[in-house]
Amino acid sequence: AAKKDGRNRARTFTRSMLIVLEQREMLRRSLRTALQEGEFFVEYQPLVSPAFEVLGFEALLRWRHPLIGNIPPSVFIPMAEKDGLMSEIGKWLLEQACRAAMSWPSHFTVAVNLSPAEFLHEGLTDRVAQTLDLVGLRPDRLELEITESVLLERTINNLDTLNTLNVLGVQISLDDFGTFYSSLSYLKNFPFDTIKIDQYFIKDLEHDEKGQTIVRSIIALAHGLGMHVTAEGVETEGQAIWLEKEGCDRLQGYFLGFPIPAEAIGEFLRKSPTALIGEFSGRRSWR
Ligand code: C2E
Ligand code: MG
Ligand code: MG
Ligand code: MG
Repeated sequence: AAKKDGRNRARTFTRSMLIVLEQREMLRRSLRTALQEGEFFVEYQPLVSPAFEVLGFEALLRWRHPLIGNIPPSVFIPMAEKDGLMSEIGKWLLEQACRAAMSWPSHFTVAVNLSPAEFLHEGLTDRVAQTLDLVGLRPDRLELEITESVLLERTINNLDTLNTLNVLGVQISLDDFGTFYSSLSYLKNFPFDTIKIDQYFIKDLEHDEKGQTIVRSIIALAHGLGMHVTAEGVETEGQAIWLEKEGCDRLQGYFLGFPIPAEAIGEFLRKSPTALIGEFSGRRSWR
């Protein structure tokens, strides 16, 4: 009986694996045409000062599959990377995001994520320069977010790329800081404007003294190196207050605002009483 069970289990397992594989194959096939079919859209999540002034938005890619519905970026972006589609999709997103930013108050920034394939793409710096030119967006209003995984390979060219972007005048953020290798040599060698502390460290902040020590240290480290700090994944008022007190420059997370479509930004700003303070006071610094 045990033998029979084992065989059955093996067969069941194989079949469900097959279904998963078939679904993945189906998704990959749809992904190839998703851009032409207009299935991608962009949501924007606010980046906010500790005084709750909106400072800008991060563009987040969304894919609405015609049959399945919304597929999370954590699922389709790695697929698109593997199939060599991400560079083309990223090009589309960059232009969308820059165009959207043109309709916002002129001190707002727009942050765009770059996956490894996009960052390593030879034409990246030209693409960024051309898009800014085409759309007419001031370079310092564009922020490019990369993760440390991007920097693992091709170190010398990476530095060239970052330096060229720096010369163009765009801002560069190190995303998801603390989750990957977090090699301090990256901070020493690469010209980042901002470190984004990963939401992993923010989640338990109020009850976790070790977590507090780590976040406090990252803030001090960044400021010591002349960089700004953004906290990701701020979900509670308590976290926001703690981060304000510790001198964090920018907050992002569901407590400050969910990702929303471009069309909803106007209303979001109207409902957010401090959203336009920076514009009226002409103040551009974050603190
Ligand atoms: P990320 O760049 O670190 O973006 C932050 C993610 O955290 C987003 O997930 C956002 O919706 C989510 N988030 C924001 N606030 C909170 C919060 O308070 N609590 C929690 N639990 N989550 C929060 P999303 O949109 O699913 O994106 C996941 C990742 O996919 C992004 O992480 C980024 O690495 C990648 N991604 C998204 N859009 C793009 C894109 O246009 N291009 C590239 N290359 N990657 C993208
Ligand atoms: Mg990001
Ligand atoms: Mg992040
Ligand atoms: Mg993250």
